[in-house]
Amino acid sequence: MSLILDHINYTYNPGTAFESVALRDVCLKIEDGESVGIIGHTGSGKSTLIKHMNGLLRAQSGSVYYNGQDIYDSDFDLRGLRFQVGLVFQYPEYQLFEETVLKDVAFGPHNMGYSDKEAAIMAYEALKTVELEPEVYDQSPFDMSGGQKRRAAIAGVLAMKPSTLILDEPTAGLDPEGRRKMLDLIKGLCEKDGITVVMVSHSMEDMADYVNRIVVMDEGRVAMDADPHEVFSREEELRAMGLMVPQVSLVASKLAARGIDIRTDGITVSETADAIVEALRGRYR
Ligand code: ADP
Ligand code: MG
Repeated sequence: MSLILDHINYTYNPGTAFESVALRDVCLKIEDGESVGIIGHTGSGKSTLIKHMNGLLRAQSGSVYYNGQDIYDSDFDLRGLRFQVGLVFQYPEYQLFEETVLKDVAFGPHNMGYSDKEAAIMAYEALKTVELEPEVYDQSPFDMSGGQKRRAAIAGVLAMKPSTLILDEPTAGLDPEGRRKMLDLIKGLCEKDGITVVMVSHSMEDMADYVNRIVVMDEGRVAMDADPHEVFSREEELRAMGLMVPQVSLVASKLAARGIDIRTDGITVSETADAIVEALRGRYR
């Protein structure tokens, strides 16, 4: 799988008083098996960007290629693309609507043309993947907790067996425990099931711990596109865009500022812990 956005421009309500430029000359290439994080200030174009990845929005200029095929070609199977590149919206739990969790999750496969039985099997598999307990399968989705509802909504997309999963702020509004579980689930989908993951997040900590590559959006442009260590080494630039580095990486830089000889390139708790241990060893040698 490869997904290429080639010089994408998108403006909402062009030529009206409500015109709003959301994407400016965006170029991105996403390869099979990657886990990509998208960060950026509110209004920087993150949600608009991901809606171009499965053709939900159509750029006014530029091209999108899926596996080398131009998705704007008149004979391209756009409907098929929506099944292969699954998009989980922000607060997807608000889109649950069937009487039971199982029916809700089976909706996508049904829509793809699978029989009742096939759709149910695909739904069971997806519910198992997101680790929802079998007790809830026949319940109303509305009787579940917030975290469970979100898992059910993700299962609804996974049931269509996408090769790529795109999630808009999947941890928004979850408590710390629910948040960690959600991120572990997403990481597992990429690492164990080989699904390519693109995830929008506000949390620098989530990004440092869970993705291999970060795309930073700023006023509709790709401002950075690099591995997390490189992105978070550019603290001043991030700050100018209203973004922060992970809190824990500030610990080492503050120690260094006070004259301690310490590595300051850690971005996770364990990397920073290692750096502190190394610094202590050097000091008491
Ligand atoms: P983000 O997800 O990073 O917060 P969005 O992609 O939602 O950013 O928004 C990018 C820009 O497009 C913003 O200026 C926003 O106001 C505008 N925008 C987003 N959705 C709409 C819409 N439905 N109609 C008009 N303007 C929109
Ligand atoms: Mg958004």
